[in-house]
Amino acid sequence: MEIIVMGCGTSQGVPLVAHDNAGLDLKNPRNWRTRTSVHVIIGGHHVQVDAAPEFRLQCIHNQIPRVDSFILTHGHADHILGMDDLRQFCTNQDGDPIPVYTTTRGTERIQAIFPYALQVKRSFGYVALDVSLMPKKLTLPGGGTVEHVLLPHGTEDTLGLVFTDPHSGSKFAYYTDCRELTPEAYALGHRADLAILDGLRPAPHPTHMSFDEACQASLKLDAKQTLITHMTYQIDYDVYTKKLAETYPKVGLCYDGLRIKLP
Ligand SMILES: [Zn+2]
Ligand SMILES: [Zn+2]
Repeated sequence: MEIIVMGCGTSQGVPLVAHDNAGLDLKNPRNWRTRTSVHVIIGGHHVQVDAAPEFRLQCIHNQIPRVDSFILTHGHADHILGMDDLRQFCTNQDGDPIPVYTTTRGTERIQAIFPYALQVKRSFGYVALDVSLMPKKLTLPGGGTVEHVLLPHGTEDTLGLVFTDPHSGSKFAYYTDCRELTPEAYALGHRADLAILDGLRPAPHPTHMSFDEACQASLKLDAKQTLITHMTYQIDYDVYTKKLAETYPKVGLCYDGLRIKLP
């Protein structure tokens, strides 16, 4: 299984527009964060999780050749607005719609924003989406599986995803955009080989885990390795990487373009 971090910035992106971004070293490319999403290659199948407003550029920079399945974790703007740029992937697969899996609320958002993409049997040059509710356990062509739990995120629930490799059994937990991890999330992601967790900023937030809450969650999850995502400008890459080495040695920070191969 290979995981590509397409973006790891909070909903406004990093650096902030029209702001001094105090404490952030803009000379470090790892502090330039597009909005949060990942691309997972599992059993030879390409799964895109969320489509940021920068999705098109993320695909170009990371040389993404295909999107075979798409999972929308929830319908917030920073995760859904890039979905129109799935169009070339439809064209490249002979016009077939992209299979999309999401929540009930996620489905409603797709219907509201991209009504022209639904109930389209074949599409060349425009996007076509075949939307279903995310099943408890999704088995992909190639044998990889994706299980989910619902994570609390204010007025929305977010799909928390656990991918399992069909050959090695290696496990990747992707828990973005959540106020906390539920007992079900801890059970499903227990001892994951890699966990990527929402760790917004140093201070607490009503709908996201803070940086420290994410580190604590990583310990409870007993993940072999954890990376923090959905970060604000308040988290400078070098400053926090150094802090983590002293406090939570199994935790690090995501950066855009990071690729991780699990056996
Ligand atoms: Zn978000
Ligand atoms: Zn959100």
